[in-house]
Amino acid sequence: MSIPFVDLKAQYQALQSEIDTAINAVISECAFIKGPYVEAFESEFANYINAKHCISCANGTDAIEIVLQALGVGPGDEVIVPANSFIATSESVTTAGAKPVFVDCEPNFRNIDPEKLEEKITSKTKAIIAVHLYGMPADLSRIMKIAQRHNCYVIEDAAQAHGARYNGQRIGTIGHAATFSFFPGKNLGAYGDGGAITCQEDQLARKCRMIANHGRISKYDHEFEGRNSRLDGLQAAILSVKLKYLDNWNALRRQHADYYRSKLSQTKLVLPTIASHIEPVFHLYVVEHPEREKLRVGLTERGIGCGVHYPIALPMLQAYSRFNHSAEEFPNSVRMSKQALSLPMYPELTKNQIDTVVSAVEEVLG
Ligand SMILES: *Cc1c(COP(=O)(O)O)cnc(C)c1O
Repeated sequence: MSIPFVDLKAQYQALQSEIDTAINAVISECAFIKGPYVEAFESEFANYINAKHCISCANGTDAIEIVLQALGVGPGDEVIVPANSFIATSESVTTAGAKPVFVDCEPNFRNIDPEKLEEKITSKTKAIIAVHLYGMPADLSRIMKIAQRHNCYVIEDAAQAHGARYNGQRIGTIGHAATFSFFPGKNLGAYGDGGAITCQEDQLARKCRMIANHGRISKYDHEFEGRNSRLDGLQAAILSVKLKYLDNWNALRRQHADYYRSKLSQTKLVLPTIASHIEPVFHLYVVEHPEREKLRVGLTERGIGCGVHYPIALPMLQAYSRFNHSAEEFPNSVRMSKQALSLPMYPELTKNQIDTVVSAVEEVLG
């Protein structure tokens, strides 16, 4: 039995008639750019997150860049980012003209370490990007306190955490702004690229919306130069259909994580740690083992899809060689890059499939 790492086909097949109807409606109404489907999705997603504003855009990377720009972050500024994330987090800082300053992750929760954060703050620090990596909310209350002390903004990079909760509250409303990706494989995925920003403040929302749409006030009146970064009608209609299922899908992911834990707790794998005040959404189920490569190859040979998130810690990437960082500065992130392995995780996964993954893990590790 081969088990994929994610199974987008299974999800489409379950929703096929609803999705096809939505796609046909957009096409027959030619509601391709902006229009009623985009507006509807923005208001549904804002409601879901319990945010005052949702501004859709072309992808999750743009979402971060647009927020940074809207907050006035640019050349000469520094933005703190975790060393363990996808490059979009730090890339958007550079694209906005600022400098990414990396902070190591915390060993158990794998998100930016609040203990190590404050020492990286300088007079140039304008913002902190807290990534809710793998669907596990970052330690927002401590991060917000540090940010308040130093008068900087907090942006939640929630690309992997749609629907997760922190102290009972959905992430996406706690920082000054939050950014989401609707890349197909994310917990809420479109059938192409898509992204969104959520925030509470009217002025910030207005600025983000204008930046994403050529700095427009009206069709051909532009207050400033923005860019073209829009969610299209087809993606919005698909996302509206899928949003109704998100809580159920996330609950299934948590069930699978519980089941993995019950079966894997006897092995030597390090399993995800969940803080008591958070409800994660397990975008990924990431385990750690010193012999990660042996495990990865062994599972692959047995037809089990797995992934590494991420094989090179951000500061160690060639893309950041200009900073001359050393691995010793980021021990936890570098260890994760060598020991982390993501096991199959998606809502449609079955107990049988998890049993097969677990047997394979036991076989490979002996
Ligand atoms: C996917 C992802 C992004 C970027 O999203 P795109 O829509 O692919 O641009 C940003 N940050 C993190 C942590 C991600 O996983």
